[in-house]
Amino acid sequence: MRTIKHSRQRESILTFLLNRKDHPTADTLYAGIREEYPNISLGTVYRNLNLLVELGEIQKLTCGDGKDHFDADTSPHYHFVCQTCGCVSDLPLPPVDNLDEQAQACTDCHIDSHTLIFYGTCVDCLANPMAHPSDT
Ligand code: ZN
Ligand code: MN
Repeated sequence: MRTIKHSRQRESILTFLLNRKDHPTADTLYAGIREEYPNISLGTVYRNLNLLVELGEIQKLTCGDGKDHFDADTSPHYHFVCQTCGCVSDLPLPPVDNLDEQAQACTDCHIDSHTLIFYGTCVDCLANPMAHPSDT
């Protein structure tokens, strides 16, 4: 019974994430999931998110704001982080070919992967410079 319930919760978390393009944090996901599962705990959401990451069904992004962001798109792609509002969006730059191999050629350490994040100001913040007070 427990495993069925848990996998249904996990499925619901995955579905919720698949429907979003904004790379939500665990807290944001928790707020949304609670509408469907009012009794779910933040710990359960965290556990399931980390399990989904381990299973390779989603990816975790570290964007420099101290919070993990989650992305149901596991294909190689880059991200843009707005330093004013903190939004995280996909950057449709074609992945650099063989970057891991190029890095490997420079070191005796073993390269597994890389991340590439671009920082700046998003179009909304460019249009409304006063809309997002800093440090929210
Ligand atoms: Zn912004
Ligand atoms: Mn993404």
